[in-house]
Amino acid sequence: MSNLEAVAQRVLTPLILDEPGTIALEDQAAIATWVQKTALTAMLLSSKEQRENGYGLAPSEYRALYERRELVQPLDFSQFWVGRFEGVKGFSAVRVTPLTVRIPDFPEPPLPQGYAMTIVLGALLLHGVRFTTPGLQADTTTELGMPPLWPSETSVMWPAGQTCTEKSLLALADGGTLRATGGEVRLQPWSHAAHLPQSAFENGAIKVPALCRKHDIYYPAALLQEAHQGRFYAFMTSCECSAYLIHTDSDRIRFRAAGEPEGIAAMYADMVGDEFLIEDQIGEFACKRLPA
Ligand SMILES: [Zn+2]
Repeated sequence: MSNLEAVAQRVLTPLILDEPGTIALEDQAAIATWVQKTALTAMLLSSKEQRENGYGLAPSEYRALYERRELVQPLDFSQFWVGRFEGVKGFSAVRVTPLTVRIPDFPEPPLPQGYAMTIVLGALLLHGVRFTTPGLQADTTTELGMPPLWPSETSVMWPAGQTCTEKSLLALADGGTLRATGGEVRLQPWSHAAHLPQSAFENGAIKVPALCRKHDIYYPAALLQEAHQGRFYAFMTSCECSAYLIHTDSDRIRFRAAGEPEGIAAMYADMVGDEFLIEDQIGEFACKRLPA
């Protein structure tokens, strides 16, 4: 695998530094393999408990990658794109989101059928999707018009396509810009990873388990009433393990990010929307109205 690192370093370093360049066709398999390996390795950092709750990837993914370690080629039914990111200098992120393949009129499958991989290194954005359920792979494109890295038949001129910003990164990492071509399937984040199973009403507040599953978080019931009227909000909260950025949705909340309080506060501050203060038994609660 060290050869992969060498190719990645040689080819990607100028792009990370925002210097226009080319990814030659003969290097693309190695770069795509490096993206897959890096994303899967980053997922190992999630706790055993998170993985048991379905936030990680199946052990078979790691086995498959190991079995083809001599072959410089990403796993079957994978596609990768390369784009440009504009944000804080020196920013880097690795994110993997389990996805489901949704067919109109069919209920959501109980387990994810693939995952989106996103790596940001300076000005370089690498994005991929892998389908894990045979027969459910879809040919996909990204709305940003990023050139395909794998499979591909030409060298990639960089930069190309629309630039991704900090504001659009969360949606992109959730697979939000992936579009299945031909057919009616849609890709969506696996809701068990994004939504919460149960919530309870306590002292005028809604209590829901935090992502860690060890603690609870609270938010004013008024936000749920607002959601029923089609008005949605973002807010920050935290448990002993982590800070969270949360959006309300039609009948539940979605964890949009978890991490250090400073990072979550910066993401919240960057969000577009009017800020509201809600007073209730918990005290003052700040939230931002999301644009319709
Ligand atoms: Zn916690």
